[in-house]
Amino acid sequence: MKYVIIGNGVAGTTAAAHIRKLDSDGEITVLTDEATPFYSRIRLIEYLAGEAAEKDIVIYKDEWYKKNNISLLLNTRIADIDKDKKEVMTSNGESSGFDKLLFATGSFSFVPPITGSDKKGVFTLRTIRDADEIIHYAKGMKKVLLIGGGVLGLEAGNALRKRGHEITVVEFFQRLLPRQMDSGGAEILKAQLESMGFTFFLGAKSKEIVGDDKVTGLVLEDGTKIDCDLIIISAGVRPHAELAKKLGLTIKKGLIVNDRMETEIKDIYAAGDLIEHRGVFYGIWPAAQKQGEIAGMNMAGGNTLYEGTTMSNILKVVGVDLAAAGDVDEEGKCESIVQKDREKYVYKKLVIKDNMLSGCIFYGDITGYRKVLKAIEEKRDIVDIRMNLEKWDLSGL
Ligand SMILES: Cc1cc2nc3c(=O)[nH]c(=O)nc-3n(C[C@H](O)[C@H](O)[C@H](O)COP(=O)(O)OP(=O)(O)OC[C@H]3O[C@@H](n4cnc5c(N)ncnc54)[C@H](O)[C@@H]3O)c2cc1C
Repeated sequence: MKYVIIGNGVAGTTAAAHIRKLDSDGEITVLTDEATPFYSRIRLIEYLAGEAAEKDIVIYKDEWYKKNNISLLLNTRIADIDKDKKEVMTSNGESSGFDKLLFATGSFSFVPPITGSDKKGVFTLRTIRDADEIIHYAKGMKKVLLIGGGVLGLEAGNALRKRGHEITVVEFFQRLLPRQMDSGGAEILKAQLESMGFTFFLGAKSKEIVGDDKVTGLVLEDGTKIDCDLIIISAGVRPHAELAKKLGLTIKKGLIVNDRMETEIKDIYAAGDLIEHRGVFYGIWPAAQKQGEIAGMNMAGGNTLYEGTTMSNILKVVGVDLAAAGDVDEEGKCESIVQKDREKYVYKKLVIKDNMLSGCIFYGDITGYRKVLKAIEEKRDIVDIRMNLEKWDLSGL
């Protein structure tokens, strides 16, 4: 059996590992247009801060591929697929056959249509190459501006703050971390980050990036001009679905797959950041990993179903403990238990729906977060321990 996997991120690599567990003889080839074996995108933040080297963030080195008899082809971009001949074609015109194919092409950073976003000094952060380019350009520069106040924007901003840059964040929403925080928590977080040196413009729409060829500033819709030497845009991701599109596969928020991680074409599977499953586009590591596992097992003859992953995220900014999962109920539609201490930068919230925990925010103290995440995932009934939860006694979970 010949397995071809396009993409060597966590989805593709996990799939390869699980294929090998079930099929000791099959020929497994993983192809990527990147130059580095499987590495942690999450740890790119430490790399950007100068706290980790490339070798530290690489997860599987050459020995792993040798030991598992998996061929890894770096710097190899797949440009086309012939589904009838069952062949993938590289951008160099080489072709290779497959019996089972996996799309694990991930996603790319979305750049909103802001005039001037093609100027020198405007970046996105997705790959180790992006991080290298940012580090190189930032040398000798002072003012860094982040468009996007989500997890990635704040973490990247903090990484460069540690390198001595002045950080300004421009966020379209009225609050930071619009996906992980409600306004009560986001307000305290903003105050804490400001105390660390961040400057924020919230509810602000970017209009134009200015400068001759190099960026010198950002103009907002209301006419405010913010001077800066470098801009990183972190305005979300979009699926890397061009190849799937060429095959006529259905793409909505992502490439549509079923619970077995199969696309609409027989023997072609998909997993990771590029997919949409039961209406959800995830864009998070644990989901991509689980989907890779399910896809790999099914490609090798198994029959395992993917049931979805609880959305969760941990902000990795030293001095700021923050984790959130599930529905944080910004609109206050559900019951919730909130603990708040503005002075100590603490905000904790348990969201309750139908006698179950459906979401949480742990900010300032993440003790018990894993327990709560598990209870959310397991849809545990909390009626009997509700009184204890009101006192933030999580021992019954
Ligand atoms: C800086 C950063 C920090 C993050 N932090 C977190 C975090 O704290 N928690 C969390 O849950 N998630 C985090 N994420 C998101 C997480 O990294 C992704 O969800 C995850 O890496 C997706 O894995 P994947 O395997 O689906 O795709 P990817 O890791 O994107 O891998 C896809 C690979 O396919 C390659 N490829 C695409 N098209 C082709 C082609 N035509 N030919 C060949 N190769 C191709 C791409 O170049 C890429 O190497 C972070 C992401 C970034 C960028």
